[in-house]
Amino acid sequence: MPESSTRTAAAAPASTADAAIERHLLHTVAAAPGQATPTEIMHAVAQVAREHLSQRWVAGDSADRAAKARRVYYLSMEFLIGRTLSNALAALDLKGEMGKAAAAHASTLEDLAATEPDAALGNGGLGRLAACFLDSMATQELPSFGYGIRYEFGMFKQAIQDGRQVEGPDAWLEDGTPWEFPRFNVHYPVRFGGWVEPATDPSRVPTWRHAGEVNAKAYDMVIPGHGTQRVSTLRLWKAVAPAQIDLHAFNTGDYSRAAEFKNQYENISWVLYPNDSTPAGRELRLRQEYFFTSASIQDILARHLAEHGNLANLADKVAIHLNDTHPAIGVAELMRLLVDEHGFGWMSAWAVTKKVFSYTNHTLMPEALETWPVSLMQHVLPRHLEIIFRINAEFLAEAAAHRPGDNDFLRRLSLIDETGERRVRMAHLSIVGSHKVNGVSALHSDLLVQTIFADFASLWPDRFTNMTNGVTPRRWLAQANPSLSSLIDSTIGSGWRLDLTQLSRLKPHAEREDFRNAFLAVKHANKARLAAHIEATTGVKVDPASLFDVQVKRIHEYKRQLLNVLQVVARYQAMLAAPQADWVPRTVIFAGKAASSYVAAKNVIRLIHDIGQVINNDARLGGKLKLVFIPNYGVSVAEVIMPGADLSEQISTAGTEASGTGNMKLALNGALTIGTDDGANIEIREQVGDDNIFIFGLKTPEVAAAKQAGYQPLRIYESHVQIKAVLDAIAGGQFSPDEPGRYRPLVDSLLWGGDHYMLLADFDSYLETQSKVDALYRDRQAWAKKAIANVAGMGFFSSDRTIGEYARQVWGIAPKH
Ligand SMILES: *Cc1c(COP(=O)(O)O)cnc(C)c1O
Repeated sequence: MPESSTRTAAAAPASTADAAIERHLLHTVAAAPGQATPTEIMHAVAQVAREHLSQRWVAGDSADRAAKARRVYYLSMEFLIGRTLSNALAALDLKGEMGKAAAAHASTLEDLAATEPDAALGNGGLGRLAACFLDSMATQELPSFGYGIRYEFGMFKQAIQDGRQVEGPDAWLEDGTPWEFPRFNVHYPVRFGGWVEPATDPSRVPTWRHAGEVNAKAYDMVIPGHGTQRVSTLRLWKAVAPAQIDLHAFNTGDYSRAAEFKNQYENISWVLYPNDSTPAGRELRLRQEYFFTSASIQDILARHLAEHGNLANLADKVAIHLNDTHPAIGVAELMRLLVDEHGFGWMSAWAVTKKVFSYTNHTLMPEALETWPVSLMQHVLPRHLEIIFRINAEFLAEAAAHRPGDNDFLRRLSLIDETGERRVRMAHLSIVGSHKVNGVSALHSDLLVQTIFADFASLWPDRFTNMTNGVTPRRWLAQANPSLSSLIDSTIGSGWRLDLTQLSRLKPHAEREDFRNAFLAVKHANKARLAAHIEATTGVKVDPASLFDVQVKRIHEYKRQLLNVLQVVARYQAMLAAPQADWVPRTVIFAGKAASSYVAAKNVIRLIHDIGQVINNDARLGGKLKLVFIPNYGVSVAEVIMPGADLSEQISTAGTEASGTGNMKLALNGALTIGTDDGANIEIREQVGDDNIFIFGLKTPEVAAAKQAGYQPLRIYESHVQIKAVLDAIAGGQFSPDEPGRYRPLVDSLLWGGDHYMLLADFDSYLETQSKVDALYRDRQAWAKKAIANVAGMGFFSSDRTIGEYARQVWGIAPKH
């Protein structure tokens, strides 16, 4: 393009999408429009969206300041966002225009969007929930901030080599991201270590003589709201060494020592811990938690002071939510800031703190509840430990008044676990420091007050409540499943994006054969897209006409991928025994990451591959059974899988899955659930109806009773021909002929290790229910009817509903809807 016309394009107002993209190619990306790569065009399109979002952001921020708004601050160690471009364009109503502009560059919006790396700043459900919540907070126009860590490396990349998981770094920031806004003037010191100098007299406060300090710098991501001009902010903190720390080393020319110093500080925001629900037990993890929590609370106080001049009305204007216990140290940090730095008396600071905080619990499993050794906390956060001890002393005095003389009660309640090495119980700190505590499904919230938090509930029954999880319909239906979205739009209108309960209007259409056929056609197209992804990533060809049976989630023993595997082997054996029978063709699809140190979970991944090798190459099956493992499960992969699923496997041992959200995404996309009476499966059943879901297995009280009665998996094995055949085949090396003993330990853990998650107890019921699934799938019209009933019944599971409940019942802020 000649220079003169370049100038013209640049000077012209961005009247068309084309001109705006071209302008950004030339001025922001510095690429010739005719030669730009898809990545460069993606960046230019993102810049166009960014401009619009910036304006909305500034306007919303000014409005909130002027209104001196009450705000909610959502503190989360994880935000599993995925890609942003498509979602941003949809929120800005720019998809049509940008699609045409992309075509002018011989590309599609989907292809451009696919060049954006996922922002994978989370492990799984907990982090994805936080991302759905941000979307809903913006859409519900809540004055809100998410706060987290700007990890240089997010969730590891999963590759499969010889059937085994191999972890690789996720350098998502390598080429920069168009979505972040560095806030150069927003930074706070975060201090660690040292000792505490006691107060010289009771009117003074102790002095924390810290040993080290790191600078937390703010990087903002803008979160677009849908159907509104409002946006929300995700503020992520990056750790930067204080300038003076390495100056001496630099001045003396010792650059490598200087770099080493720098790294010691900056490693705080380097990597996301690839650990799902068990504490890493590492000092760096504790430092991460305190780092982002302290920076966030300092930022909250600074904003409040700028707006109100003093902190007297803090509790009227600020709600801080703890997403799990990772930011629980915030309770002690707010106390420290108020008492040590802002002149509050202890009692008034405590009254404010309890009003400000609320806390969501995400697990009932005792081994997954976060605790920190007192000695480590003394070393890293000595002043906070003092504060925690005082909170504990006053709390235990209050509790003692409720049950005089009951020392066991106090021992159970204490913020300090005194059995063995003394440890700080972060869940207890969160409960004592919050005015509301919630579980994430009806069952989970009930179990919380009946089991792990029963003592607290006896003290403060009103503090405990339920907020059933949800997912954003914008990403998980509108964006992920455009074909189903158009079918829904043309049937009931497009209002469901902002009011998912409107999906119930689909119900009567399930009776129409033409609608069912249209629905089946959409599903088939989505399955073809998924089949192409499977072939591209695994090399295995699968038939879109077969039943797509999907279990996608973190690989964890409690989620029982192994139970599904046993079922596949049983099916394989049955098919070989009767090859001429009329088997329903099935493609069993797994995806998910195992924590890098989780040996049992990694073995399951390998077992899936080993069995897949045998099954997928066994000509006797006539291609009627396939087993595949899709690598590198994450948000973008999930967006391809969910729309193409027929059957959703939600088979955790009853009482172990707090809620699940994958179950919601799959049902929303028209998959039928086969699941246990666990987490949100129970509420999905209530919403879609008993006839439209396959529930099997022991219920929570039955699991407890079976354990009480002395569960004996070996007995089941010995008396059950099918289970014995399956386990013998795996343990005997049928699927690992090169190393026949490979899976002996895994099978032994079931037979001799107690089968902790009761796979064998549920096996029969599971198999029987799977036959019902097959039977239904033979009748495509009957299947379609139930699948449509699932979509129609999912209105309750929008994260907009969840956020509305939090806003009203926990945060004291009015949502839009
Ligand atoms: C929804 C989601 C999860 C949570 O899945 P569950 O089945 O609820 O455990 C995990 N990872 C990703 C990428 C998701 O999108």
